[in-house]
Amino acid sequence: MSDQAFVTLATNDSYARGAMVLGKSLRNHNTSKKLVALIGPQMSEPCKAVLKRIYDEVREVDVLDSGDTAHLAMMKRPDLGVTFTKLHCWTLTHYSKCVFMDADTLVLSNIDELFNREELSAAPDPRLARLLQLRFDGGDQGVLNSFFNDWSTADISKHLPFIYNLSSIAIYTYLPAFKQYGGNAKVVHFLGKTKPWSYTYNTTSRRVTGSDAATHPTFLLDWWSLYSRTVVPMLQEQHGDEPFY
Ligand code: UDP
Ligand code: MN
Repeated sequence: MSDQAFVTLATNDSYARGAMVLGKSLRNHNTSKKLVALIGPQMSEPCKAVLKRIYDEVREVDVLDSGDTAHLAMMKRPDLGVTFTKLHCWTLTHYSKCVFMDADTLVLSNIDELFNREELSAAPDPRLARLLQLRFDGGDQGVLNSFFNDWSTADISKHLPFIYNLSSIAIYTYLPAFKQYGGNAKVVHFLGKTKPWSYTYNTTSRRVTGSDAATHPTFLLDWWSLYSRTVVPMLQEQHGDEPFY
Protein backbone atom coordinates (compact mmCIF):
# COMPACT_ATOMS: atom_id res chain seq x y z
CA MET A 1 0.00 0.00 0.00
CA SER A 2 1.45 3.31 -1.04
CA ASP A 3 -0.11 5.40 1.73
CA GLN A 4 2.01 3.58 4.30
CA ALA A 5 5.64 4.42 4.91
CA PHE A 6 8.79 3.29 6.61
CA VAL A 7 10.31 6.36 8.23
CA THR A 8 13.81 6.97 9.49
CA LEU A 9 15.72 9.94 10.86
CA ALA A 10 19.21 11.22 10.09
CA THR A 11 20.24 14.58 11.52
CA ASN A 12 23.79 14.50 10.15
CA ASP A 13 26.00 12.91 7.49
CA SER A 14 27.05 10.01 9.73
CA TYR A 15 23.53 8.82 10.42
CA ALA A 16 22.75 9.53 6.76
CA ARG A 17 25.07 6.67 5.85
CA GLY A 18 23.04 4.43 8.12
CA ALA A 19 19.81 5.64 6.55
CA MET A 20 21.18 4.90 3.07
CA VAL A 21 22.01 1.31 4.01
CA LEU A 22 18.67 0.86 5.78
CA GLY A 23 16.78 2.16 2.72
CA LYS A 24 18.73 -0.11 0.41
CA SER A 25 18.08 -3.11 2.66
CA LEU A 26 14.33 -2.39 2.67
CA ARG A 27 14.31 -2.09 -1.15
CA ASN A 28 16.39 -5.25 -1.54
CA HIS A 29 13.68 -7.13 0.31
CA ASN A 30 11.00 -5.74 -1.98
CA THR A 31 9.03 -3.59 0.39
CA SER A 32 5.76 -2.35 -1.08
CA LYS A 33 5.77 0.66 1.28
CA LYS A 34 6.97 4.20 0.72
CA LEU A 35 10.33 5.17 2.24
CA VAL A 36 10.64 8.49 4.07
CA ALA A 37 13.81 10.04 5.49
CA LEU A 38 13.54 12.89 7.99
CA ILE A 39 16.75 14.90 7.85
CA GLY A 40 18.31 17.68 9.88
CA PRO A 41 19.26 21.08 8.46
CA GLN A 42 23.00 20.28 8.85
CA MET A 43 23.07 17.57 6.23
CA SER A 44 25.42 18.04 3.28
CA GLU A 45 24.08 18.30 -0.26
CA PRO A 46 25.75 15.09 -1.53
CA CYS A 47 24.18 13.07 1.30
CA LYS A 48 20.79 14.64 0.64
CA ALA A 49 21.10 13.80 -3.05
CA VAL A 50 21.90 10.15 -2.35
CA LEU A 51 19.06 9.86 0.18
CA LYS A 52 16.71 11.26 -2.48
CA ARG A 53 17.72 8.47 -4.84
CA ILE A 54 16.94 5.79 -2.27
CA TYR A 55 13.94 7.31 -0.48
CA ASP A 56 10.59 8.37 -1.95
CA GLU A 57 10.47 11.41 0.30
CA VAL A 58 13.26 13.32 2.04
CA ARG A 59 11.90 15.90 4.43
CA GLU A 60 13.89 18.45 6.38
CA VAL A 61 12.76 18.83 10.00
CA ASP A 62 13.75 20.96 12.98
CA VAL A 63 15.84 19.10 15.49
CA LEU A 64 13.84 18.69 18.66
CA ASP A 65 15.50 18.27 22.00
CA SER A 66 13.92 16.67 24.98
CA GLY A 67 15.23 19.26 27.41
CA ASP A 68 15.17 16.44 29.91
CA THR A 69 18.93 16.39 30.35
CA ALA A 70 18.84 14.82 33.79
CA HIS A 71 17.05 11.79 32.47
CA LEU A 72 19.31 11.44 29.45
CA ALA A 73 22.47 11.98 31.48
CA MET A 74 21.29 9.20 33.71
CA MET A 75 21.23 6.96 30.67
CA LYS A 76 24.81 8.14 29.92
CA ARG A 77 23.82 9.18 26.41
CA PRO A 78 23.35 12.96 26.46
CA ASP A 79 23.54 12.89 22.64
CA LEU A 80 20.23 11.09 22.51
CA GLY A 81 18.25 14.29 23.07
CA VAL A 82 18.20 14.61 19.32
CA THR A 83 16.35 11.34 18.92
CA PHE A 84 13.20 13.11 20.08
CA THR A 85 13.24 14.48 16.56
CA LYS A 86 11.68 11.18 15.54
CA LEU A 87 8.43 12.53 16.99
CA HIS A 88 8.14 14.39 13.66
CA CYS A 89 6.93 11.04 12.41
CA TRP A 90 3.47 11.99 13.65
CA THR A 91 3.42 15.01 11.37
CA LEU A 92 3.53 12.79 8.30
CA THR A 93 -0.23 12.82 8.10
CA HIS A 94 -0.32 12.10 4.37
CA TYR A 95 0.41 8.50 5.30
CA SER A 96 -2.18 6.35 7.02
CA LYS A 97 0.48 4.44 8.93
CA CYS A 98 4.21 4.78 9.57
CA VAL A 99 6.79 2.36 10.89
CA PHE A 100 9.79 4.15 12.36
CA MET A 101 13.18 2.49 12.00
CA ASP A 102 16.40 3.73 13.58
CA ALA A 103 19.02 4.67 10.97
CA ASP A 104 21.38 2.14 12.60
CA THR A 105 19.25 -0.84 11.66
CA LEU A 106 19.67 -3.34 8.83
CA VAL A 107 16.74 -5.27 7.41
CA LEU A 108 17.39 -8.95 6.68
CA SER A 109 14.02 -9.92 5.20
CA ASN A 110 10.71 -8.33 4.20
CA ILE A 111 9.07 -6.77 7.27
CA ASP A 112 5.98 -5.23 5.63
CA GLU A 113 3.89 -7.28 8.07
CA LEU A 114 4.78 -4.71 10.74
CA PHE A 115 2.07 -2.50 9.22
CA ASN A 116 -0.51 -4.96 10.50
CA ARG A 117 0.35 -3.91 14.05
CA GLU A 118 -1.52 -1.26 15.95
CA GLU A 119 -0.25 2.11 17.07
CA LEU A 120 1.93 2.30 19.14
CA SER A 121 3.82 -0.95 18.83
CA ALA A 122 7.49 -1.07 19.71
CA ALA A 123 10.29 -3.53 20.10
CA PRO A 124 11.67 -3.79 23.60
CA ASP A 125 15.13 -2.35 24.15
CA PRO A 126 17.36 -5.19 25.26
CA ARG A 127 19.27 -2.77 27.50
CA LEU A 128 16.10 -1.91 29.36
CA ALA A 129 15.57 -5.59 29.88
CA ARG A 130 18.98 -5.71 31.46
CA LEU A 131 18.18 -2.76 33.67
CA LEU A 132 15.01 -4.49 34.69
CA GLN A 133 17.02 -7.52 35.71
CA LEU A 134 19.46 -5.35 37.61
CA ARG A 135 16.78 -3.52 39.48
CA PHE A 136 14.91 -6.67 40.32
CA ASP A 137 18.07 -7.97 41.94
CA GLY A 138 18.58 -4.73 43.79
CA GLY A 139 14.94 -4.57 44.80
CA ASP A 140 14.61 -0.97 43.69
CA GLN A 141 10.88 -0.87 43.01
CA GLY A 142 10.83 2.90 42.64
CA VAL A 143 13.04 2.94 39.59
CA LEU A 144 11.22 -0.07 38.25
CA ASN A 145 7.84 1.55 38.48
CA SER A 146 8.81 4.84 36.94
CA PHE A 147 10.62 3.17 34.05
CA PHE A 148 8.31 0.31 33.29
CA ASN A 149 4.86 1.35 34.33
CA ASP A 150 3.56 1.71 30.79
CA TRP A 151 5.46 -1.22 29.51
CA SER A 152 4.08 -3.70 32.00
CA THR A 153 0.48 -2.60 31.51
CA ALA A 154 0.64 -2.23 27.72
CA ASP A 155 -1.13 -4.59 25.36
CA ILE A 156 1.33 -7.45 24.79
CA SER A 157 0.56 -7.53 21.06
CA LYS A 158 2.22 -4.12 20.92
CA HIS A 159 5.49 -5.60 22.09
CA LEU A 160 7.22 -6.60 18.91
CA PRO A 161 9.17 -9.85 19.03
CA PHE A 162 12.93 -9.60 19.41
CA ILE A 163 13.46 -10.70 15.81
CA TYR A 164 12.49 -7.14 14.81
CA ASN A 165 15.15 -5.59 17.03
CA LEU A 166 18.03 -7.95 17.39
CA SER A 167 21.02 -6.24 18.95
CA SER A 168 24.12 -7.09 16.99
CA ILE A 169 26.24 -7.04 20.12
CA ALA A 170 23.84 -8.90 22.40
CA ILE A 171 23.97 -11.78 19.96
CA TYR A 172 27.52 -12.51 20.93
CA THR A 173 27.31 -11.65 24.58
CA TYR A 174 24.24 -13.77 25.00
CA LEU A 175 24.80 -16.68 22.67
CA PRO A 176 21.98 -18.95 23.89
CA ALA A 177 19.36 -16.38 22.87
CA PHE A 178 21.00 -15.97 19.51
CA LYS A 179 20.96 -19.71 18.91
CA GLN A 180 17.27 -19.75 19.68
CA TYR A 181 16.15 -16.64 17.80
CA GLY A 182 19.08 -15.44 15.70
CA GLY A 183 18.26 -17.50 12.63
CA ASN A 184 14.85 -15.83 12.48
CA ALA A 185 16.19 -12.32 12.85
CA LYS A 186 14.51 -9.82 10.53
CA VAL A 187 16.09 -6.60 11.74
CA VAL A 188 19.53 -6.13 13.24
CA HIS A 189 20.02 -3.05 15.38
CA PHE A 190 23.54 -1.67 15.89
CA LEU A 191 22.58 0.05 19.11
CA GLY A 192 25.15 1.60 21.39
CA LYS A 193 27.88 4.13 20.93
CA THR A 194 29.86 2.45 18.17
CA LYS A 195 27.93 2.43 14.92
CA PRO A 196 28.80 0.46 11.77
CA TRP A 197 30.12 3.59 10.10
CA SER A 198 32.58 4.12 13.00
CA TYR A 199 34.56 1.10 11.88
CA THR A 200 36.95 0.78 8.97
CA TYR A 201 36.31 -1.62 6.13
CA ASN A 202 38.98 -3.04 3.87
CA THR A 203 37.35 -3.57 0.48
CA THR A 204 40.11 -5.92 -0.67
CA SER A 205 40.19 -8.28 2.28
CA ARG A 206 36.49 -7.63 3.02
CA ARG A 207 37.24 -7.29 6.70
CA VAL A 208 35.97 -4.82 9.25
CA THR A 209 38.43 -3.41 11.76
CA GLY A 210 37.87 -1.25 14.81
CA SER A 211 37.87 -1.39 18.60
CA ASP A 212 35.34 -4.15 19.22
CA ALA A 213 34.62 -5.26 15.66
CA ALA A 214 35.19 -8.86 16.67
CA THR A 215 32.22 -8.80 19.04
CA HIS A 216 29.66 -8.68 16.27
CA PRO A 217 31.34 -9.80 13.06
CA THR A 218 28.61 -11.19 10.82
CA PHE A 219 26.03 -8.42 10.68
CA LEU A 220 28.66 -5.71 10.70
CA LEU A 221 30.13 -7.30 7.61
CA ASP A 222 26.67 -7.45 6.00
CA TRP A 223 26.21 -3.75 6.66
CA TRP A 224 29.61 -2.87 5.18
CA SER A 225 29.20 -5.07 2.18
CA LEU A 226 25.88 -3.39 1.30
CA TYR A 227 27.36 0.04 2.00
CA SER A 228 30.45 -0.44 -0.14
CA ARG A 229 28.63 -2.15 -3.02
CA THR A 230 25.61 0.12 -3.36
CA VAL A 231 26.00 3.33 -1.34
CA VAL A 232 29.65 4.24 -1.94
CA PRO A 233 29.24 4.37 -5.76
CA MET A 234 26.32 6.79 -5.36
CA LEU A 235 28.28 8.96 -2.92
CA GLN A 236 31.27 8.92 -5.28
CA GLU A 237 29.06 10.14 -8.08
CA GLN A 238 27.90 13.06 -5.93
CA HIS A 239 31.35 13.99 -4.67
CA GLY A 240 33.29 13.70 -7.89
CA ASP A 241 36.98 13.71 -7.01
CA GLU A 242 36.54 15.09 -3.48
CA PRO A 243 37.13 12.57 -0.70
CA PHE A 244 34.03 12.02 1.45
CA TYR A 245 35.15 10.00 4.45
N1 UDP B 1 19.74 10.03 15.36
C1 UDP B 1 20.17 11.04 14.47
N2 UDP B 1 21.23 11.82 14.83
C2 UDP B 1 21.88 11.69 16.01
C3 UDP B 1 21.46 10.68 16.90
C4 UDP B 1 20.40 9.87 16.54
O1 UDP B 1 19.61 11.18 13.39
O2 UDP B 1 22.85 12.45 16.26
C5 UDP B 1 18.57 9.19 15.00
C6 UDP B 1 18.93 7.99 14.14
O3 UDP B 1 17.84 7.61 13.35
C7 UDP B 1 19.21 6.95 15.20
C8 UDP B 1 18.09 7.24 16.19
O4 UDP B 1 17.99 8.66 16.19
O5 UDP B 1 19.20 5.65 14.70
C9 UDP B 1 18.35 6.73 17.60
O6 UDP B 1 19.69 7.00 18.01
P1 UDP B 1 20.78 5.83 18.11
O7 UDP B 1 20.50 4.80 17.08
O8 UDP B 1 22.13 6.47 18.10
O9 UDP B 1 20.48 5.25 19.56
P2 UDP B 1 20.70 3.72 20.07
O10 UDP B 1 19.94 2.84 19.13
O11 UDP B 1 22.17 3.46 20.07
O12 UDP B 1 20.10 3.75 21.43
MN1 MN C 1 19.63 2.82 17.12
